[in-house]
Amino acid sequence: MSDRLPKFIAPLLLTERGRGLEGELELRGFPRLAELLADKRGTAVFELSFFKQDRQAVLQGRIATVLILRCQNCLQKLDWPVDCEFRLGIVASLDEANLLPDDLEPLLIGQEKTILNDIIEEELLLSVPLFPKHAKQCFDHRQYAAAPAETKQTRTDNPFAVLATLKK
Ligand SMILES: [Zn+2]
Repeated sequence: MSDRLPKFIAPLLLTERGRGLEGELELRGFPRLAELLADKRGTAVFELSFFKQDRQAVLQGRIATVLILRCQNCLQKLDWPVDCEFRLGIVASLDEANLLPDDLEPLLIGQEKTILNDIIEEELLLSVPLFPKHAKQCFDHRQYAAAPAETKQTRTDNPFAVLATLKK
């Protein structure tokens, strides 16, 4: 792990040199992602490699972290482990992006410098579900229903889950 990561990277130069980059970034350093977190503590570990596939410059990466989201069912915190891999085709224009093979998403590098943080944040945002929920039924509706406890145990569906589906 490198202690000092560059803020800006030059993807094409890294590709030419066949260089990789790895490190760890604090989640609170990603402003758009941080808005979605119930707790901003923690870091994301990443590794990036740059190479050519046929003649196309490719950035292949992997990011692992645990995001702490807010469960939309019970409103409690929810650990959301992320371990994602991605492959981006490094392109300088939308025309080039349109020519990319199907297995590559475009990484558009333009006049502005490419910010390392932006690449990692973009991929992490793709890992956040629209309606984060605990895997198990977490909302205890007996607390809210007037019915005495234990009488409605046979009921397995959750009306709030139905609501969440409708909202989609
Ligand atoms: Zn929950």
